Parts: sequence; structure tokens; C-alpha cells
Amino acid sequence: MNKIDFRSDTVTKPTGLMREAMNSAQLGDDVFGDDPTVNLLESKAAALFGKEASLFCPSGTMTNQIAINVHTRPGDEVICDQLAHIYNYEGGGIAFNSGCSMKLMRGDRGRFNAKDVLEAINPDDPHFPVSKLVSIENTCNKGAGAIWDMTEIASIRKVCQEKGLMFHLDGARLFNALVESEYNEAVIGSSFDSISICLSKGLGCPVGSLLIGDAEFIKRSRRIRKVFGGGMRQAGMLAAAGVYALDHHVNRLKEDHANARNLGEILNQCPWVKSVMPSDTNILVVDLHEDTEQERILRELESFGILAVGFGPGKIRFVTHLDIDGKDIDSCEKTFNRIK
Ligand SMILES: *Cc1c(COP(=O)(O)O)cnc(C)c1O
Repeated sequence: MNKIDFRSDTVTKPTGLMREAMNSAQLGDDVFGDDPTVNLLESKAAALFGKEASLFCPSGTMTNQIAINVHTRPGDEVICDQLAHIYNYEGGGIAFNSGCSMKLMRGDRGRFNAKDVLEAINPDDPHFPVSKLVSIENTCNKGAGAIWDMTEIASIRKVCQEKGLMFHLDGARLFNALVESEYNEAVIGSSFDSISICLSKGLGCPVGSLLIGDAEFIKRSRRIRKVFGGGMRQAGMLAAAGVYALDHHVNRLKEDHANARNLGEILNQCPWVKSVMPSDTNILVVDLHEDTEQERILRELESFGILAVGFGPGKIRFVTHLDIDGKDIDSCEKTFNRIK
């Protein structure tokens, strides 16, 4: 049976052309700074956002954790939403790697505002941790792919500047936001002290994330990447996939969003679905009826060759991506209705 894998946009396999690009990449030892393909990818990503430099890392967890480590000292506090990946899905890394506490915002699908930030900043008093960094996630995974409003980003930026806080963007799915909004890459670049983007999500690469910032920040980040064990040697094979993806896989993200919209409509008609969270991009989060068992639905879907994941109590997540097309979505309608 041909499986339709909605578990994540990380399940994609490199396309034939991407593999060709990887195969023919020029290589060197990147820890010595000698890999021309890594250097090309890093300068391409930095230029895209009008920043000075960038750093190729094995994962988005690593790029986020490096950024947090560079921006903070032990005992500082990081402000982020309660849905944030850096808080929920990085193994407690903020405490483990950087010895920081967190202050959690209760935003709308992961999006808080400048007033929330202002109120969350601790006074300069020895009782409190030092508020040092604000991190936002765009798009927000647990917020069903929610896109941030650019004016809100600008307002938070202003608060950070006035109060001396750093501002980080977990942009694992930033390109999904970019193709759906009126954002300007340079404005995004100038709004943050650091940006993390994932190549291994919607862009379809096998491995890789980039941390983007000014030259001094990236110099310090390169040192922390080595400390975290993330220095890679002939990484140009992986970077070549990234260069290819930035050139060829960004605009097509719109197809994933259209597929998600259609899938959302189908799901909304299903007897076992109570509601589908509003989605801006490629992530659908479904709420089941109270008496519907999550495990049973996942099992039944799997028996029809459809994979999805539990996403907290009573919730199932579906993610569209490069390896799912319109025909796959059409075929779901029949299948979903066979489940009661
Ligand atoms: C996937 C993801 C990351 C990074 O995950 P890795 O699997 O470590 O690459 C970071 N932030 C968000 C919002 C993500 O969805």
C-alpha cells in the first residue's frame, strides 16, 4: 500500500534533482572553513535576510539552542510562548545547555504581543532572573502553522530595544510564512538579532538548519556549535541540498498550503472530527469528540495507509509537504469517511 505520511514535513525524501546537486557538490573540511558549498549556503542565507553571516548546523534544535546560549548567561530568563518549540520540544535544553529560566506567554495560537512582553520583563531586582531574550516562533507549530503579524513583530522589536533584550526568531517554518504574507525578507532580517531556519522541514532537505545573524554573533555561535558537537566536515553534501532547496523549493510551499486547506475542508466533514483549528499554512490540528479515542483513530487511519500523529490529549496533527500531492488529498476523502 502506498502510504500517505502526514506525520510531519520532516518525512520528505530528497528529490532526484536534489540528490544530483548533493552528488556533484564541491567539498572541503568545514571545521577548517574549507567547504565551498557550505560557505555558499551560509552566505546565500545571510544575504537573503540582509544579515552579515550564517552558520550551517545539523538541526533546528541546535540552531535555537546555540542562539539562546550566545544571547544569555546562566540565571537569565527567556520570554517565549507556552506553545514554543524551544520550551516544549527541545528536551529542556534551555535549562540544560544555558542554565536559564523561562517566562511563558499565553498567546493566541502562539502569538503574544508587545504589551505582554513589557509586562513579562522583570524589574532590576535581585529577587528576579534577568530578562534577557525574547523568542518567537513563526510559523507556530503548536498554533497550527500560525503566521505572525508584521506590525506586532515590529512592536516587540521596539520593546526589546528599549529594554535591552535580544530578539530571536525560531523560523523553522519561516518560509511557509514568507510565501503566504507580505513580509519583506530584509525587514524580517533587521527585526531580529538572530534567526533560525530549517532546511529539513517544508524545504525538503535530508538534514540541516541555518542560524543567521551579525558577524560577531555568528563567530561566537561557531564556537558554541563546536562545544555542542555540531562541527561537521565534508558537510557540503548536505549544504548542496540546502542551496538547491532555497532555489527551487520555496515558492512551491504554496501548494502545501492549498493541500492543507483542502484537507481541512475534508476533515471538517468527518463524523469523528469535532473541529479543525484555523490554519494559515501547512499544519492542521484536529480536535476529536470527547468520547472518540485518539489511539483508535490513529490506528484506523494507519490501517488505510494514512499516518498522522497525536498532538496532545484529543488532538491529531496532519502536516502537508513536498511528498504529498493533490491526488493524495482527494483520496483521503473516501478513506476518512470510512472511519466512524
Ligand atoms: C522542527 C522544529 C525545530 C527544530 O527541530 P529539529 O528537528 O531539531 O531540526 C525548531 N522549531 C520548530 C518550531 C520546529 O517545528
